[in-house]
Amino acid sequence: METKESQTTFTPSWLRKTEIPVVIAGPCSAETEEQVFETCRGIAATGKADMLRAGIWKPRTRPGTFEGIGIKGLPWMRQMKMETGMPVTVEVAKAGHVEACLEFEMDVLWVGARTTVNPFAVQEIAEAVRGVDIPILVKNPINPDLALWLGAVERFQRVGIEKIGAIHRGFSNTSEKVYRNRPQWLIAIDFMDRMPEIPMINDPSHICGNRHMLGTVAQKAIDLGYDGLMIETHGDPDNAWSDAKQQITPEIFGQMITDMKLRYDLEDDPNVQGSLEFLRQEINQIDDDLINLLGERMSVVRKIGEYKKERNMTIFQPKRWHEILEKAQIKGDNNNLSDRLIDKFLRAVHEESIDQQEKIMEDRWKPKVSE
Ligand code: PEP
Ligand code: MN
Repeated sequence: METKESQTTFTPSWLRKTEIPVVIAGPCSAETEEQVFETCRGIAATGKADMLRAGIWKPRTRPGTFEGIGIKGLPWMRQMKMETGMPVTVEVAKAGHVEACLEFEMDVLWVGARTTVNPFAVQEIAEAVRGVDIPILVKNPINPDLALWLGAVERFQRVGIEKIGAIHRGFSNTSEKVYRNRPQWLIAIDFMDRMPEIPMINDPSHICGNRHMLGTVAQKAIDLGYDGLMIETHGDPDNAWSDAKQQITPEIFGQMITDMKLRYDLEDDPNVQGSLEFLRQEINQIDDDLINLLGERMSVVRKIGEYKKERNMTIFQPKRWHEILEKAQIKGDNNNLSDRLIDKFLRAVHEESIDQQEKIMEDRWKPKVSE
């Protein structure tokens, strides 16, 4: 990504002033003064980051591992802020953390995934920042629950915090093999749809859990129009005290950001709008046709429902359903459509068909209501 001179504002957000996504970098954990200084200076030297991060208190899944250096690390971050001129952010999980961060002049606070799941903890942090003008970044909860994520943001809005951002760090899933935390992009997209005024940052480090996929995930986030990236960066990643496998050196971090392709949200550009308009009209027409066809399909489904009702036939006929699915998969393949789409689409249509026939059959036994 190059540095862009133009200052056009595409996102009316507090975080992102230009079309260039915001980049936050720094170690998973602050370990020693030397490690924090080496890493932050290395990041600053690349010129590719806008903000520095470090975990001071680490919410580890199991006890007995490094749980963070604690308050001792805050002056190190403050010194890096003064030296580099970059704002600094750390994770807070309770009111005491907030107080310490305010005392040591941290610029931005973030709420971790293990905290977002707990409304009591989020509320405690929210009360601690009531009346304070400090930006808060809210990571998604570890479980794929959009409402919990939105709810945490709302708790901060209710105490008057105006600068809020979201961080998408993926969702824990025991059957997941590829990612450390499955991204489930649609949850983040739904979030952006529900709260378009909240900037969305992607954290490919915790999604991937390794180094080799970082660039792919980060680029996908930029392709989707995310407002920023948070990337764990460490002077000596292999010997990091936490999350060693996913951290990269400042040099590799700099290279990765340089190599990324910028994408622009050109919604307001009249030239782009003109040439896209024609194709969009075409899409609208096709969507109309699809809906009309679905309506037609359902009227046939209701006729079949009447037929089944007269003969006391069961609604669900497994053989017929598998026949439909198999045929559609072949047709889908020929039309360059994934099996996943065909499966999801037909299941949704099938569910609706069953519901419509159920309504027709509805002459069931009902308890007598006493008058
Ligand atoms: C972190 O950013 O180091 C961290 C603990 O992340 P998460 O809350 O996403 O697990
Ligand atoms: Mn980490």
